[in-house]
Amino acid sequence: MLSDFYPSKMFKFCPFCGSKEFAWDGAKSHRCGACGHKLYVNEAAATVALIANARGELLFVRRRYNPAKGTLDLPGGFVDLGETAEHAVTREVKEELNLEVSKLQFFGSFPNRYLFGEVVYFTLDLVFVCTVRDFSPLSAADDVESYLFAAPQKVNVDEIGLESIREVVKAYAKLIAER
Ligand SMILES: [Zn+2]
Repeated sequence: MLSDFYPSKMFKFCPFCGSKEFAWDGAKSHRCGACGHKLYVNEAAATVALIANARGELLFVRRRYNPAKGTLDLPGGFVDLGETAEHAVTREVKEELNLEVSKLQFFGSFPNRYLFGEVVYFTLDLVFVCTVRDFSPLSAADDVESYLFAAPQKVNVDEIGLESIREVVKAYAKLIAER
């Protein structure tokens, strides 16, 4: 169960003084009974790219690494410290697929839970519709095993490993169907 790996269960010592009197408040922070410091658990910002070709098919990737290794995903990744979401999504599309994004439009935000190194990190996936004019440089690299184009309304969402990405694809397919 993912909830077994929440920070409330895994973080046992105060990072300021090392005390074991490090109690979870039941909602969003730990408080140290020895030194009084509070440490909040926040959502980490991540980005997701919706990239469609001229036929309206969506560009999916297959994950090279855990979590959810081998499952379908959308391009994107974590926002670095001090970076904008716009820069992060453009950078990730270049790193993973060697494509240049020429235009961005914000689509929405989707919360996610991401198990890494025996801790669940809460993320907020910031989703952008990305315009790509030239698909000729397309190649899989970085944490992407391979890529494929598929109609968003036809893809089997059970093949998508991450909760938030399933919701993104469902929302996008609904939007396309209403057009
Ligand atoms: Zn302390």
